[in-house]
Amino acid sequence: MPSNKGSNQSIYLDHASTTPLDGEVLAAMRPYFCEEFGNASSQHAYGMRAANAVVAARDEMAVALGISPHELYFTSCGTESDNLGIKGISLAAAERGKHIVVSAVEHPAVIQSALDLKEFGFEVTFVYPDENGVVSPQTVQNCMRADTVLVAVMSANNETGVIQPVKEICAAVHAMGAYLWCDCVQTAGVLPVSEFPADGFAISAHKFYGPKGVGAACIKRGVRFRRQLAGGQQERGMRGGTLNTPGIAGMACALSLSLKCAAHDNEYVASLRNAFESIILSSVPDVFINGGAAQRLPSHSNISFCGCDAQNLVFALDMRGVACSAGAACSSGASKPSHVLQAMNVSEQRLKSAVRFSFGKNNTVRQVECAAEAVIAAVKAIRG
Ligand code: PLP
Repeated sequence: MPSNKGSNQSIYLDHASTTPLDGEVLAAMRPYFCEEFGNASSQHAYGMRAANAVVAARDEMAVALGISPHELYFTSCGTESDNLGIKGISLAAAERGKHIVVSAVEHPAVIQSALDLKEFGFEVTFVYPDENGVVSPQTVQNCMRADTVLVAVMSANNETGVIQPVKEICAAVHAMGAYLWCDCVQTAGVLPVSEFPADGFAISAHKFYGPKGVGAACIKRGVRFRRQLAGGQQERGMRGGTLNTPGIAGMACALSLSLKCAAHDNEYVASLRNAFESIILSSVPDVFINGGAAQRLPSHSNISFCGCDAQNLVFALDMRGVACSAGAACSSGASKPSHVLQAMNVSEQRLKSAVRFSFGKNNTVRQVECAAEAVIAAVKAIRG
């Protein structure tokens, strides 16, 4: 069989892992690589022009996110933002208590940040979702104690796309006197951040057609936190390191563009995802859509093909020209069973055979039909 591996003719259905850079975003970044290459902390004209670009990007993003520019801290990625928020806020609140609650379906950036705090005497309690992947405010509250200082629940899951009731969880967390951290990496640029009120949140530009290697943490006014990267006085002394001017300019442009087109793009992407799922459901026996009964992001489809090994199916689809992933490709490509599906208590068969397809605004109806045909053929071949 001819191999499509590495071919750019492949149908890309892995947007939850990363998205292609938008052409308009590249244009917004370009000047800051060459002509306007100055360090935004420098005192001369080159530096001032870079600093002005950062100020403009910060203001633009603050408007898009509905926050104050002073609440925004530029970072290198979603992972760094999660580390800054979870470790930074918990450590600053340690005199009040050393207990944190983390949902069991969080991205490793959140789970590992929480577990690292054990070194500082913190205890971590995991809160489990129901079988659809939804974490209830009541279950969160049941896990909280008098010494709980922080709770972390994501806006939507990266493997299933399941959206969490963050507004209600935030009210429950505040009623117990703790802070809520919300990993908004999968929802930023898709849904307004105001739908996920929290004391702080993380975003990452490469998930919304922006560049890789740049993200932001928002930490609301009045919430104290400890810096995690010591160095220069960048970001008001709370995150040292030369600012990534092209990345920041690109992230601001990508966020505005995504939100401007979100209503149209979300409807279009959901129609592709729904068409794909209905072809698969009507043509392939023994398939389950994980999280399918919950409210989901328009892009995600996590499907178990019982009797297939997920890794084999992903390789087989790559050979047939479809790029998708088993579990969360963004967290290392490891072939461990998904902790997200385990937390949802799915059966062993469903766990081993779960593949994530995530659709994007550049996919076409024809691509989705071809991808579905490839899936049908690959599953048939693997099942023998
Ligand atoms: N949080 C979630 C929900 C994610 O999906 C990801 C990446 O896939 C991250 C955090 C980490 O983001 P980054 O790749 O920018 O470090």
